[in-house]
Amino acid sequence: MSESFPEIREAVRRLCADFPGEYWQRLDRDRAYPTEFVRALTEAGFLSVLIPEEFGGSGLGLSAATAVLEEIHRSGCNGGACHAQMYTMGTVLKHGSEEQKKNYLPKVASGELRLQAFGVTEPTAGTDTTRIRTFAKRDGDDFVVNGQKIWISRAEHSDLMVLLCRTTPREECKKPSDGMSVLLVDMREAVGNGLTIRPIRTMLNHATTELFFDDLRVPAKNLVGEEGKGFKYILSGMNAERILIASECIGDGRFFIDKASAYARGRSVFGRPIGENQGIQFPIARAYVQLSAAAEMVDKAARMFDEGHASGTEANMAKMLASEASWYAADMCVQTHGGFGFAEEYDVERKFRETRLYQVAPISTNLILSHVATHILELPKSF
Ligand SMILES: Cc1cc2nc3c(=O)[nH]c(=O)nc-3n(C[C@H](O)[C@H](O)[C@H](O)COP(=O)(O)OP(=O)(O)OC[C@H]3O[C@@H](n4cnc5c(N)ncnc54)[C@H](O)[C@@H]3O)c2cc1C
Repeated sequence: MSESFPEIREAVRRLCADFPGEYWQRLDRDRAYPTEFVRALTEAGFLSVLIPEEFGGSGLGLSAATAVLEEIHRSGCNGGACHAQMYTMGTVLKHGSEEQKKNYLPKVASGELRLQAFGVTEPTAGTDTTRIRTFAKRDGDDFVVNGQKIWISRAEHSDLMVLLCRTTPREECKKPSDGMSVLLVDMREAVGNGLTIRPIRTMLNHATTELFFDDLRVPAKNLVGEEGKGFKYILSGMNAERILIASECIGDGRFFIDKASAYARGRSVFGRPIGENQGIQFPIARAYVQLSAAAEMVDKAARMFDEGHASGTEANMAKMLASEASWYAADMCVQTHGGFGFAEEYDVERKFRETRLYQVAPISTNLILSHVATHILELPKSF
């Protein structure tokens, strides 16, 4: 099978070889951030592939970015600590003012500014984003923000955050999706001055947090685009996110298939390699078949995105297929390894926990099915 972007893939693999399983196991034990790994990716320019050349990036498309993330994950590493540095800037690039673009994008491209926190989810609203309650009230040259967010990843490792909040109460809007706005929050000034970050310990090492806003002042010049149109801006960035996450799932799936095949060839029980048994072979082959199909959908979605076509449905379908294929491969890989599937040093159990996330975040499978049912199949809406 020929691979796209072979040079990029080869360079990413070489970089990842410096960050072997023991590195990730240590971080996982301590729930620590992979600072050295993120620095290496930044210095190599892999996190700025989507930023146009005029702002200091390499101006490549989403397909190139999927190759980067897939290889990171195939190598046993994890891009979750920094993948948002690639795409969160898309909100500024697409909807920001010229001044915001000039101020921020070159520094995001060089890594001087980390723009990798994305604050949407709230504890009471859940997936129903129009019910968010974090409110930004205009006061002179500032907005004053009050409210709460949950599951905001990398907030402690970001200089800037793209924040979605209400600027008009839902009841006063024509449509529930009106009246929300995007603010760029400078975390270096905000923390301790109205913003409190509380880390959440989860089953995987993902640096995710809860945020509390208590009269946080954000300069009005940090409003991205027009007031009240934020929901649309956030939605447009979500397609890129879903396609990139899908490519991480493809990488995870390939990691599990590589690992399981090697183990099945080498492990002898009853006087023969376990891989000789079809009960072991077939699940590995099935994982490969499913993953290959999912990878085609990821490629298609990325291509459509790069060509400027509407790619929402394909992005959703790619994310769903890839996350399910990687989860099947993860489960198969544990089973193939028997007891060793549970041993930390094999990295299988860590990757198993890591890949499970993607059926829930950044969007859960039910919501994808609902999109396809109502938007494509014209079935009645249930909410
Ligand atoms: C580790 C981690 C990192 C995250 N990082 C970020 C981040 O950086 N920024 C951010 O904004 N968010 C982040 N999230 C939040 C993530 O996007 C949400 O958890 C996800 O979208 C699901 O929302 P929820 O948890 O509120 O689930 P809920 O909306 O409470 O839903 C719970 C379950 O019910 C199902 N469900 C809900 N309504 C329906 C319906 N009408 N029909 C059928 N099923 C339904 C859902 O599919 C889901 O399975 C992160 C989450 C995790 C766990």
